[in-house]
Amino acid sequence: MVGDAVAGFNPVYGQGMTGALLHPSCPAGCLRKGADPRAPAQAYFAHVKVVVDAAWEVSTLADLAQPHVTGPYPLGYVLARRMADRTARASVTDPWCTNGSSTW
Ligand SMILES: Cc1cc2nc3c(=O)[nH]c(=O)nc-3n(C[C@H](O)[C@H](O)[C@H](O)COP(=O)(O)OP(=O)(O)OC[C@H]3O[C@@H](n4cnc5c(N)ncnc54)[C@H](O)[C@@H]3O)c2cc1C
Repeated sequence: MVGDAVAGFNPVYGQGMTGALLHPSCPAGCLRKGADPRAPAQAYFAHVKVVVDAAWEVSTLADLAQPHVTGPYPLGYVLARRMADRTARASVTDPWCTNGSSTW
């Protein structure tokens, strides 16, 4: 299972295709660690969970910033929100962030 069959996100955050591309890299990681391809795939789903949880955290953080949402807010929300805002702002104002350090 990969892509939307694993987890579907709100399309407004544009995460679905990235997830669909990252999920197939998870079995490679498992197989490199010696997983038996004929055995049940718990190790694969443990890897996929990391990818899904990271994307989910980003989109729920943005959901919590909606003006009509009143919480509950998770521990560390204010700090995470501030970091996310600064990263988003830098992505459109800072050439180093936009182009990557390799071009500088
Ligand atoms: C309106 C909208 C906007 C989006 N915008 C973005 C965006 O900006 N950025 C982003 O990253 N993601 C976006 N997404 C999400 C993204 O499109 C999906 O996450 C991504 O396409 C999932 O890929 P997938 O291969 O898992 O599924 P899909 O792309 O849905 O592919 C599944 C394929 O299986 C086929 N299929 C289904 N059943 C069968 C069957 N029984 N036999 C044979 N074939 C079958 C379907 O026809 C389809 O072609 C958006 C989604 C929507 C709905």
